[in-house]
Amino acid sequence: MASNPDHSQADPHASASVYELIRSRVLREEIPPNARINIDALARELEVSSTPVREALRQLQGDNLVVQEPGRGYRTTPILNAAELRELFEFRLLVEPWAAKIAAMDRLQNPGYVLEREIADITDLIGRQSDIRYELMDHDIRFHDAILRSTSNEVVRTAYAQTHCHLHAFRLHPGERTGEFTVAEHRVIHAAIRGHEPEAAEQAMRDHLTAAYLRFEVAHGVNSGAPYLPGTHEDRPAATTSLSL
Ligand SMILES: [Zn+2]
Repeated sequence: MASNPDHSQADPHASASVYELIRSRVLREEIPPNARINIDALARELEVSSTPVREALRQLQGDNLVVQEPGRGYRTTPILNAAELRELFEFRLLVEPWAAKIAAMDRLQNPGYVLEREIADITDLIGRQSDIRYELMDHDIRFHDAILRSTSNEVVRTAYAQTHCHLHAFRLHPGERTGEFTVAEHRVIHAAIRGHEPEAAEQAMRDHLTAAYLRFEVAHGVNSGAPYLPGTHEDRPAATTSLSL
C-alpha cells in the first residue's frame, strides 16, 4: 500500500481527479484513439490503485471516450470521421439556435448572468495563458449547457448531452489556441440573450455553430462534400483560411 498509495482513500475527490487526468490524456491523444488501455500501467503512472482508475474508465465510458470489451478490458473509441462531424453539427444546428431563442424569450430563467460570468472567466484566462484550448473546451461545454438548461426541456438537454459533441470535436481538432473567435461569438450570443432579443439570439447561435464547423473543416482538412448547414450555404465566409486556429 505504501509503495502504491490509493489516493481515493486519502482524498474523497481523488476519483474525480483521476477521471479528469485520464479524460485529459484521452482528449489530448496522449492515449491514442482506438487503443487498448493498460489499467495497471496507468495506475502506476498516476500513483493510485487500480480502483479509481477503473471507476474513471466507467465514467469515461459514459462520455463515449472509452468502450469496455468483454474479457479484454477497455479501449479508447476512434475519433469522428468527416461524416460524423457533419452529422453532429447538423444536430446542433437543429437544436441550439432554437434553445438560444427560448433562452432570450424567458425573462425568469434568462441565463444572461451565467453566460456573462463564463465569458469573464475565460477572458481572464486568455490574458494569462497562451494556449487555452483545453480550458476553452470546458468553457464551451458550460456556456452551451447553460443555454440548453434555460429551456427547461430535459429531453433536448439529455439528447444533446449524450452526443458529447465538445469532447469528440476536440479530439478531432483541439480548436483555437487563443479562443479569440469563439469568445467573440459567445459575446454576441450573450448580448442577444441578455437583451431579450430572440431572433438575434437564434441567428447568433447559428452563426457561431457555422463558424465553429468551418474552423474544424479548415483546420482538419475535412472535406465532407456538401454539409447541410441550414441557411448557411449562401453566406459562407470566404476568408476562412485567415482564421487562426
Ligand atoms: Zn460555443
